[in-house]
Amino acid sequence: MNLEEYKGVFVFAQQVDNVVSGIALELIGKGKDLAKDLGTEVTAVLVGYEVKALADELAAFGADKVIVVDDPELKEYRTEPYAHALASVIEKYKPEIFLVGATAIGRDLGPRVSARIHTGLTADCTQLDIGDFPLNPIPGQEQKHNQLLMTRPAFGGNTIATIACPNFRPQMATVRPGVMQKAPKVEGAKAVVEEFNPGFAPNNKYVEIMEVVKSVVDAVDIMDAKILVSGGRGVCSPENFKILQDLADAVGGTVSCSRAVVDAGWKPKDLQVGQTGKTVRPNVYFAIGISGAIQHLAGMEESDLIIAINKDDTAPIFDVADYGIVGDLNKIVPALTEKIKEAKAAK
Ligand SMILES: Cc1cc2nc3c(=O)[nH]c(=O)nc-3n(C[C@H](O)[C@H](O)[C@H](O)COP(=O)(O)OP(=O)(O)OC[C@H]3O[C@@H](n4cnc5c(N)ncnc54)[C@H](O)[C@@H]3O)c2cc1C
Repeated sequence: MNLEEYKGVFVFAQQVDNVVSGIALELIGKGKDLAKDLGTEVTAVLVGYEVKALADELAAFGADKVIVVDDPELKEYRTEPYAHALASVIEKYKPEIFLVGATAIGRDLGPRVSARIHTGLTADCTQLDIGDFPLNPIPGQEQKHNQLLMTRPAFGGNTIATIACPNFRPQMATVRPGVMQKAPKVEGAKAVVEEFNPGFAPNNKYVEIMEVVKSVVDAVDIMDAKILVSGGRGVCSPENFKILQDLADAVGGTVSCSRAVVDAGWKPKDLQVGQTGKTVRPNVYFAIGISGAIQHLAGMEESDLIIAINKDDTAPIFDVADYGIVGDLNKIVPALTEKIKEAKAAK
């Protein structure tokens, strides 16, 4: 493999039902930073059926180029044709870096593509940088420059590992949704759009979709919420989440929770914040009866303002909180809700 042939930062621009997924724009935003460090460009790879019109949106969020793979076989996500599409793009265009969202689709697709083109993939990254590998020079070992340094929690979140892929290309990573920032939208920005179709011949690995049944979700996705009122084991019962819901209603927020709450069956997994839940970045995050375990912090510490309520003044949540209230949540939360309602009524 001649590593010099591989150039550019590519991102998989995931779309579902012809709507660009937020992670695609986040990856373009991060891809721009990496491309700047490498003096190269960001290319979005858009795969689907009748999706070409989405290229403008990808351009508005910073893609310099969009490669469109458009084919009826790609109408719904299926592993085999999508893996063939991405592997073919990589074989033809030879990117130096290829990023995929760590969504249900990306977690299925990324490893399969990396195996097919024989390169490494670091899953579930929370940070990406360009730098030297090894990080510090080791006598007798070549230190390579301009490598993709992929950082992710390891060993159950107890340590942070930085991983490189110095001998194969592209350097591939999946990235958790909500971790990277979108670039500001530039209305009217245009990208170079190139269509590429490697040809799709259904084989015995093509799954036949008999019916698509969409789950009906009436709640706000906690990743989109501006204010989250998050409860932990300290809330003590599913019924007692009512006091958190009242606070959420008063501030126009959404209820979320820790894993302990999901494990107890008090709230659905959709609402879990953290390493094995969702990564959130709201304007305000209330952490109520949550101790602040490292796996929980991994999903919320980038929130703009963190307000913690806990009866234990040594709880680690106070280390990341901007405001902390020490005391019984059963007294503090209803009192806070009342004060907020009064303040709103007085306006
Ligand atoms: C591989 C792995 C992945 C994980 N992923 C996640 C994840 O994604 N998200 C996640 O949240 N966790 C995750 N965990 C679990 C994590 O380690 C913690 O066990 C979990 O976050 C604890 O939840 P908690 O803070 O609600 O409960 P606890 O740690 O039991 O904390 C409860 C808190 O409530 C306070 N409290 C109790 N009563 C009151 C009261 N009346 N008033 C005020 N405060 C009160 C207590 O002082 C305590 O601090 C993971 C663990 C592992 C090993």
